[in-house]
Amino acid sequence: AKTRDLLVEKVEDLVRRYKKLDENFFEELEEILIAADVGVNTVMELIDELRSEVRKHKIENALDLQPILSEKLVNLLKNDNTASTELNVETGRLNVILFVGVNGVGKTTTIGKMAHMFKQQGKKVIMAAGDTFRAAAIEQLEVWGDRVGVEVIKHSQGADPAAVIFDAVHAAKSRGADILLCDTAGRLQNKVNLMEELNKVYRVLQREIPNAPHEVLLVLDATTGQNALSQAKTFGQSAGVTGIVLTKLDGTAKGGIVIAIRNELQIPVKYVGLGEKMDDLQPFDPEQFVHALFA
Ligand code: GDP
Repeated sequence: AKTRDLLVEKVEDLVRRYKKLDENFFEELEEILIAADVGVNTVMELIDELRSEVRKHKIENALDLQPILSEKLVNLLKNDNTASTELNVETGRLNVILFVGVNGVGKTTTIGKMAHMFKQQGKKVIMAAGDTFRAAAIEQLEVWGDRVGVEVIKHSQGADPAAVIFDAVHAAKSRGADILLCDTAGRLQNKVNLMEELNKVYRVLQREIPNAPHEVLLVLDATTGQNALSQAKTFGQSAGVTGIVLTKLDGTAKGGIVIAIRNELQIPVKYVGLGEKMDDLQPFDPEQFVHALFA
């Protein structure tokens, strides 16, 4: 809703004020899109494409450009044959989903919400407290475990995350679980160690289960705007990220970051977080997202 207020109202106001398209119109549109965090590169491409549409179809009225803009935004979010927004989860096997991302983005909350979601679908879920760096992270996951009724496998603070994951895999196998959700540490102060730690977790998973992890979800906080984009670049390069969960979209007017991430990183946004409660997680639907912006 907040993204909508910002983008829709500003674009509508712009269209009302201009009617006839000119250079100033495009400059103002550029500013609006950048302010919504669509990302400079993406905005430049978009504006270029709009200009050429205007030339090609001899569009004179700003009102006629609005549906074209909305269609282009949908295409930016959809045109991606590298991956879909579906989670790679299959029945009849143990599916492992690894969560990565820096502290405070909403990683634990997302794991809790996803545990709830899978449980609602009738699946047996186990959570692994792989962030052993912070005692609070383990406790918080346990709180979510109690809340949604899902078992948490944990060691004490400071333990080897790979050992926690190893135990969690064995617990999941012996309980016949469908889904194993693995938390990981999120400190960025020591990026090299963090990536080494993640690699060790990967190796354990790959050794224990064919093709695991089946998903590596990077959790990003939408309210951090371009910062989220740079985190996505860092993790995207080194952690084999297969999808993004964008949290706190309920608290920001900067939902344009969805478009920037999709267009600049070719990593699909698979889920969005819309609040702090267990039901506040939704699969990301590009069409619905843009319609919410322009309908
Ligand atoms: P972590 O450090 O990445 O595990 O982050 P947490 O899961 O502890 O979340 C940090 C804060 O963000 C907590 O206060 C959460 O309640 C809050 N939070 C997480 N997801 C969302 C969301 O989608 N919307 C809102 N408004 N708050 C969220």
